[in-house]
Amino acid sequence: MNNHEIKISFDEYDHLTDLNEADRALCLEATKALEKSHSPYSKFRVGAALRLQSGRIIYGSNQENVAYPSGLCAERVALFHWGANHSDDPIESIAITAHTDDFKISQPITPCGSCLQVMAEYEKKQEQKMRILLFCEDGPIWAVEGSESFLPFLFFEDRLAH
Ligand SMILES: [Zn+2]
Repeated sequence: MNNHEIKISFDEYDHLTDLNEADRALCLEATKALEKSHSPYSKFRVGAALRLQSGRIIYGSNQENVAYPSGLCAERVALFHWGANHSDDPIESIAITAHTDDFKISQPITPCGSCLQVMAEYEKKQEQKMRILLFCEDGPIWAVEGSESFLPFLFFEDRLAH
């Protein structure tokens, strides 16, 4: 038996003011995206903003549905919009945030496995990693280069090859 360990690393910043200007600006765009969240059931708003190489910003927010599985996460709303409309303009960074009136969010909200898998797919498609910025209103900001840091065993077809 062999035991293997995987280490991941991410940067943690105390305040938005500690980020460089481009990262800070994108985090504020993600906050704007919260406004369009359709979350009458969970009352948990999630906002995502993609910054493309051209400088274009793509917004996404969680979109819930009374038939629960019909909804979608903020990250995939933004990512699929990019895939359908702007895939010739690579995604440099994605910023993600969340808000609820019920309690103060004091830790960054991390993307779900499905959203990470979609990020990984598009990183492969555009042959470029995305910088992922996670932040909340009352806590640190986490930054990581590429989805694989959060999903080391992501599903890739080349891993199926012998
Ligand atoms: Zn998700």
